[in-house]
Amino acid sequence: MPELPEVEALSAFLSERLTGRVVARVQSVAISALKTYDPPLGALEGCTVGAVTRHGKFLDIEAGGLHLVVHLARAGWLRWKDHLPEEPPRPGPKNPLALRLRLEGEAGDGFDLTEAGTKKGLAVYVVRDPAEVPGVARLGPDPLDPGLTLADFTALLSGERRRIKGVLRDQSVLAGVGNAYSDEVLHAARMSPYKLAADLTEEEIARLFEALGGTLREAVERSRGLAAGELKAEKKLGLRVHGRTGLPCPVCGDTVREVSFADSSLQYCPTCQTGGRPLADRRMSRLLK
Ligand SMILES: [Zn+2]
Repeated sequence: MPELPEVEALSAFLSERLTGRVVARVQSVAISALKTYDPPLGALEGCTVGAVTRHGKFLDIEAGGLHLVVHLARAGWLRWKDHLPEEPPRPGPKNPLALRLRLEGEAGDGFDLTEAGTKKGLAVYVVRDPAEVPGVARLGPDPLDPGLTLADFTALLSGERRRIKGVLRDQSVLAGVGNAYSDEVLHAARMSPYKLAADLTEEEIARLFEALGGTLREAVERSRGLAAGELKAEKKLGLRVHGRTGLPCPVCGDTVREVSFADSSLQYCPTCQTGGRPLADRRMSRLLK
């Protein structure tokens, strides 16, 4: 799933290509992806794109006072096309195309939103104010907001009885961090994902805050200037523990381990994060009993 750094890079990529251009056509192919009906998708046609921004993991394309807000979810992606095909796209269960936006002009450039797999989560909204999108209204502060201080971060974690891994991923606590970057931030902070947020010492909170900003800024920096099509590969290359089960930790050489859950998994380095002890994996121990 694209997280803050990838969506930030996508928004910069689109900002360069869309700002000042007129939307010629917007076609919804996967009807289930479109979550709003008023204003209709067609209201965007003929509007000039004013800005492309990001709210957490949401992309926001503003045109003519309307906002096309996109959440790519797990398997969604944006493909830029210098020349979109002339013939209208055909909907169908095997077609990964969810939405196509074409700009005015002879080239027929624009983008496709696609979604692979059967678990459809990609969501598109047309609203007059991005805060009308429930997922955007709920968002906590952005970790890259220069106004977010250590004191603010400390306040976000105070009295929080959940494990830190879950807290970092909670979009209403912090906007934009998902499963991959929460693994990366915790590795950079040398902290167990199972630690209870409320139990963190002042020193640990400071370390985590630094790791959060550092990891995300580094990832944004790496993605900057990359084309939409190159972002996924770049994200993979930059990760130290996430998705690297069984591979050596680039910091200490220990083997990266995994804990699996019903619909996700986390990765960590025992030497860097848990004093060398593997974390209990409830599913695994249940299977072994
Ligand atoms: Zn390590």
